[in-house]
Amino acid sequence: MTDALHDALAAALGEDALVTDAHDLARYEKGWRYGEGSARVVARPRTHEEVAACVRLCNEHGARVQPAGANTGLVGASTPDGSGQMVVLSLERLSRITNIDDANGSVEVEGGVLLSALNEALKERGRTFPIDLGADPQIGGMVATNTGGSRLVRYGDVRANLLGLRVVLPDGSTWSDLRGLRKNNTGLDAKQLFVGTSGAFGIVTGAVLRTWPLPRQRAGALVEAESGDAVVRLFEALEPRLGEFLTAYEAMSAEAVNAVLRHGTMERSPFPGGPPAYAVLVELSSSIPAETLDLEELLGEALVEFMEGDDPGIRDVVVGDVADFWHVRHQISESLREEGQVLGLDVSVPRSRMAEFTAEVARRVAEVAPDARVADFGHWGDGGSHLNLVWDPASAPEGRKGELQRIAYDVCVTGFGGSYSAEHCVGPHNVEAYREYTSPWVREVCARIGVERFGTVEL
Ligand SMILES: Cc1cc2nc3c(=O)[nH]c(=O)nc-3n(C[C@H](O)[C@H](O)[C@H](O)COP(=O)(O)OP(=O)(O)OC[C@H]3O[C@@H](n4cnc5c(N)ncnc54)[C@H](O)[C@@H]3O)c2cc1C
Repeated sequence: MTDALHDALAAALGEDALVTDAHDLARYEKGWRYGEGSARVVARPRTHEEVAACVRLCNEHGARVQPAGANTGLVGASTPDGSGQMVVLSLERLSRITNIDDANGSVEVEGGVLLSALNEALKERGRTFPIDLGADPQIGGMVATNTGGSRLVRYGDVRANLLGLRVVLPDGSTWSDLRGLRKNNTGLDAKQLFVGTSGAFGIVTGAVLRTWPLPRQRAGALVEAESGDAVVRLFEALEPRLGEFLTAYEAMSAEAVNAVLRHGTMERSPFPGGPPAYAVLVELSSSIPAETLDLEELLGEALVEFMEGDDPGIRDVVVGDVADFWHVRHQISESLREEGQVLGLDVSVPRSRMAEFTAEVARRVAEVAPDARVADFGHWGDGGSHLNLVWDPASAPEGRKGELQRIAYDVCVTGFGGSYSAEHCVGPHNVEAYREYTSPWVREVCARIGVERFGTVEL
């Protein structure tokens, strides 16, 4: 980096806020799944004012800024490009929980607070921020990607749980509304510009989030479904029976479960007869205690009623500790990495069409890559699928990824009216799809606001 920018950043933030050592830079330069580059420097401001100063100084010196949270994003959007010229702005030291307001059911945090730390602090107040996933992101990263997670079916995504925001805009100025209002219809809801837009509109330094009563009990089952169609029909039957107690409905294909059985940390398989076509994790939870409300009975009755109907397509039901079932679910991504070359896609379609859609992708992929296996799993209760294609890296050229990605996105967006990025947002991994499928009007609006790139990629 030029001495002038380094000196200016060091004067504004302190030398200890800058990371330049190659060994220490490494963890900011490689994404969890996609994204790899080299940073000119990593700046780690401690306050909103320091973030603003950092952005202004980078602008003055013509350096591009890459905001970075916990680096758990899955579209390669949190890492610098290969130029070695970008300044990575890590929010990790903005990690204070600044106000918990139980009466308002809200919490104010800085942008770098980790989800786990937030929930640890809320737990002793009997409350939770219920967006749940197999990673530990920062709140700013969650806002920027509009994290969905496994309990969206009950609580919604970040967008639905965001009551206020403070950001540093691309020119280094500030926009802030941390009032924590549940109701406010006074024109444009400006905070939504920063949700699910990969940090392109500004850097999140603070947020007010809605909190919920901590569940006092959970119950669950692993349902062995014989087909994707049975998974869809079971949800349709359970939702009205279980109402607001239904907190998760996750389907895991046999390929995905097999990967966990081969590479995960499970003492024994929950499926003595081998994994079913789809194992469905159904979870119920409530803040009403078990002495007053028997969730296991409620779930049992609903499942029995469905299985006694015509052609349920259910092989069996595994009952037990729901935490054990989540253990299987949360090991899938890691386990698939051990299976070979993985193309990870995060797509959604209307949930009524999940089975049909998955079968069509499998059919189209088999035409060009008969050795590629579809190892899908995901949030079928809200029409979301982590659709992974896995193959032996020795058997196919690297270029195959792009071809298969285009096929799957085409089936999803054009064939089924779906989204090529259900909850992982936009980054280098899927920006071609953004360019292809985003309406000219939306792109024009972004351009007028001055947004020309999502992180490292030109729009
Ligand atoms: C095992 C695993 C399971 C996952 N499961 C799910 C899931 O079920 N549902 C789901 O939605 N996601 C899931 N994810 C994806 C990921 O955890 C989310 O996208 C997460 O919200 C990213 O947050 P982060 O702090 O890690 O952000 P990063 O990865 O650091 O950054 C992601 C994007 O946000 C931007 N950004 C980061 N911080 C800020 C900020 N303060 N201001 C502005 N922009 C910022 C970055 O520039 C980048 O564009 C999973 C990831 C893993 C590894």
